Order: sequence, then structure tokens, then C-alpha cells
Amino acid sequence: MAIIEVRDLGKRYGPRVAVDSVSFEVAEGEIFGILGPNGAGKSTTVECVAGLRTPDRGTVSVLGRRPADVRAAIGVQLQASELPERLRVGEALSLFSSFYPSPVDWSERLGLTPHLRAEFGRLSGGLKQRLSIALALIGSPRVAILDELTTGLDPQARRDTWSVIEDVRSTGVTILLVAHFMEEAARLCDRVAVFRDGRIAALDTPSGLVSRVDGSTRVRFVPSAAVDVASLSALPEVSDVSFAGEQLVVSGSENLLHAVTSFLARKQIVARQLRVDQVSLDDAYVELTGGSGVSDH
Ligand code: ADP
Repeated sequence: MAIIEVRDLGKRYGPRVAVDSVSFEVAEGEIFGILGPNGAGKSTTVECVAGLRTPDRGTVSVLGRRPADVRAAIGVQLQASELPERLRVGEALSLFSSFYPSPVDWSERLGLTPHLRAEFGRLSGGLKQRLSIALALIGSPRVAILDELTTGLDPQARRDTWSVIEDVRSTGVTILLVAHFMEEAARLCDRVAVFRDGRIAALDTPSGLVSRVDGSTRVRFVPSAAVDVASLSALPEVSDVSFAGEQLVVSGSENLLHAVTSFLARKQIVARQLRVDQVSLDDAYVELTGGSGVSDH
């Protein structure tokens, strides 16, 4: 069953179209990632799912209801969530836990325990970040919406946060997250929607996104004898053949290696210095978003 259902979502700010026509479903227990350049409409979309913005067009349902009617079941961590400067970490946690019937304390797991007496205004960016995750999860939500999961965290803290999210998922929580790094999407997400100009340019598993890219596999080698390039190019698995010095570079689909090596075997040609490269999720992302860089706030 779909826990989150977004149908033909549209949202403008004055004349500016932020989200044009977006549809997707998130299944129970899934980690669903949203990826895309700055201004692509990611935050507007997740804010509509969280019930914090009203769509101009289309429908959003969470747990089969309007988001505003199931607010208690949705945990939200949003961009730049601010708390009063003087509020201490421990006070924020107990204040927020008092709002919910069965609060869950993630502070130990998020490394906040040594900082319970620290004032919010004096926390480092990384600690503010971890506090906002703890507060999003404190109400034991069935759906967690995370917009700034690892922004401003150093690589180690980022990895720690990812393993916290995996723990959270293993408790059955459905997670909608705006991913700011390809590596994050590949590590955490079951499926990823790549946003571009207020629309979904592609929606697939991380490995599915990679295999969509034309010429996702590349084989390079130095042939022991002249290769008939025309018949090599005619193989259905091959999309491109070119030379780089004495190397032959062949691009094509996932079965490329087998097709090329059997072709060469038939011709009794040996492939020297054979190398196989696979397009990375980074490359796939660049291709799918038309070359614009990933957002990094
Ligand atoms: P993303 O999260 O992908 O960076 P956003 O959803 O924040 O994208 O923004 C989509 C577009 O809408 C951007 O062009 C942004 O400038 C614009 N926008 C976002 N919020 C507002 C707002 N409150 N008022 C006016 N324009 C906005």
C-alpha cells in the first residue's frame, strides 16, 4: 500500500512555477529520495507532503488522508529549522516529547547526550542538524520527512547520520528525504526521483538510474590485430566505437563486455589491457538533469 501518494502536484509562487506536475507514490517502509539542482522544486514538494504548504493543483495524501489531518503521524525536519537561541538541547527534547503520547529518544544514537545542557544558539551547525533530526523523530512518526539530512555535516558525521536513518527505517518508518549527495541517495534510497524544473525527470532505483544512461558501460582495450569497426558497431549491444590512441573504446549496454569479447574471439583478436568502466550515479545524475550541478546548500 502507498503511504504517500502525490498526484499531479502543482505549486506557484506568484508567476514563478516551483512545481509543475509531479506524481509519485511511496510504499510503506521505503526510503524515497528526491534529488535535483537548486530551485528544482524539491523543498516545495516535501513541504506539500508535510502539510505545510497548500498545493495549487493536484492531490497529496499521507496514510490515505490529507497531510493536515495526520500531522501527528508525520515527523518533519525542514531547512533552517530554528529554535530559540537560549533553549538548551535537553529542554528542546523534553518540550517536544511532551507533545506526543509515546516519544522516542534518538539523542543518544545521534550523539547529543554530551550536549544536553548546551544552548541552541551556541551549537555547531552539525549539532543543530542532529538536534533537528532528533526532534523530527521524537514523536515516533510513521512517516519522516527529512529535507536537510546531512547539510553542513563533515563526512564522518554524515556517515553516522546515514546509519541512524537505516536504524530508523528498520523500525518500519517510511522516509521521504531530499538527498544532497549522490552517494547519499545510492547508500540510503530504495528509489530516487530526480527533479528538474519542477518536474520529475526520472524515477527509479539508484542502479536503474545508472542503466538508463546510454552507453552506461564502456570497454577499452588494445586489439592485437585490426578490428572491423563497422561490424563491431553493428552489434546490438554497442552504441559507440571510437579510438583513443591505440586503444579502442566501445560504449554500450550492460551486456557489452560479453558481446565484445565473443566478437573478438570469433575474429581471433586478443584484447590487451582490457578495462571495463561503468557509468557512476554521478554521471547518470548529470545526464538526467542536463548537466546542472547537484544542490549543495
Ligand atoms: P529546491 O528545494 O529544489 O531548491 P524549491 O522548492 O525551494 O526548490 O524552489 C523552487 C522554486 O520556487 C525556486 O525557483 C525558488 O526560488 C522558488 N521559491 C521557493 N520558495 C519560494 C517562496 N516562498 N517565494 C517565492 N519563490 C519561492
